[in-house]
Amino acid sequence: GSHKYSGIIEDCCCDYETVDNINGAVLNPLLQKLVTTPFFRYFKVKLWCDCPFWPDDGMCRLRDCSVCECPDNEFPESFKKPSYRSLSSDHLVCQEGKPQGTVDRTLDSKVFKGWVEIDNPWTSDDETDNGEMTYVNLLLNPERYTGYTGPSARRIWEAIYSENCPKYRSGEICQEKKVLYKLISGLHSSISIHIAADYLLDEKTNMWGENLELMYNRILRYPDRVRNLYFTFLFVLRAVTKASDYLEQAEYDSGNHAEDVKAQSLMHQLLNNPKLQAACPLPFDEAKLWQGQNGPELKQQIQNQFRNISALMDCVGCEKCRLWGKLQVLGLGTALNILFSVNNENDPAQRLQLHRNEVIALVNLLNRLSESIKVVHERGPLVERLMKHL
Ligand code: FAD
Repeated sequence: GSHKYSGIIEDCCCDYETVDNINGAVLNPLLQKLVTTPFFRYFKVKLWCDCPFWPDDGMCRLRDCSVCECPDNEFPESFKKPSYRSLSSDHLVCQEGKPQGTVDRTLDSKVFKGWVEIDNPWTSDDETDNGEMTYVNLLLNPERYTGYTGPSARRIWEAIYSENCPKYRSGEICQEKKVLYKLISGLHSSISIHIAADYLLDEKTNMWGENLELMYNRILRYPDRVRNLYFTFLFVLRAVTKASDYLEQAEYDSGNHAEDVKAQSLMHQLLNNPKLQAACPLPFDEAKLWQGQNGPELKQQIQNQFRNISALMDCVGCEKCRLWGKLQVLGLGTALNILFSVNNENDPAQRLQLHRNEVIALVNLLNRLSESIKVVHERGPLVERLMKHL
């Protein structure tokens, strides 16, 4: 075909062209709608910086990448806690300076019913409600360029990658470790694509648009980074389809009945899509992993590494980046949990249980990856042509 990347995606069961077709025709349109529903657009997060690694960096004082307060009237009355907690205002400077802020710290913890509070062994976040948790409207906080660069940002990626590749003797890299590396690299590609796709081109006129050169220099010129993006997409897609029964029965209750019915229906269409099932029935085959002698030990080790990566998100020195970093790492941790921690549906003790916030993270992560795949597919050929002429 015309696709620069051809053949079966490594460790996966479908090829690049199929993924592009399915994503463009079915998955992306459904996911785009799903993430706008109230159930999926409010993400609970602890935004306050609490970095255990580089404590006196002062990174959290960057003003231009903050998430801002939501006006009180954005949410239904029933969402709100009886007592309003006011906040110090020096923290709340919007990057875009728009009045419609994005955080409402007044939401009741019981807004979404029917979800358990359990600990995900793959992430370091404590998902239980407490005063530090806030709700963010993701639609008002698009993942895009924030101006967060330099040593602070680079140090985090460095730490993440070194966490991935602890010292093992050369030639010993096993399948399972490669998976974690590819997941992180794929997520990194996706974040970079979003930065390039929605870039502040001119600060004076506040003009936003695509930065194709950045897109090329950070991702498209490195075929591995593109491959890892597709890999990560299929991995997360597999987790969603594997959790199909659970996601189908879950209660998408945000208090807005019409919208909740819509969310349920979109979820149903996503999970029972005949085109997806025909073209890519098993996006990733997790059963092949952890089969060796050291399986359990290796899984434990990778779980610990992933928890450290999750903890590193508290060190991201820009609030909006931290929001999306936390969301997407929680989404990946949820995918890992679905694929590797639950293997016996008949044993009640081992049955899949997800936290509401995990499902929100999982679906929003899948949407982010789906968007990135779409951008690469639609803009890739043009960017490659342009860059060859420079
Ligand atoms: P970086 O993207 O910082 O990459 C550092 C190094 O990692 C590269 O030099 C390369 O060696 C390697 N590398 C790069 N990409 C890959 C890949 N796909 N696979 C493997 N290795 C790779 N900035 C924003 O503007 N908006 C955001 O929303 C945002 N979110 C962020 C979230 C997190 C969790 C982090 C850690 C950073 C975030 N940033 C964000 C910052 C952004 O990711 C970059 O760090 C920043 O733009 C500087 O880019 P860079 O060119 O120095 O390379």
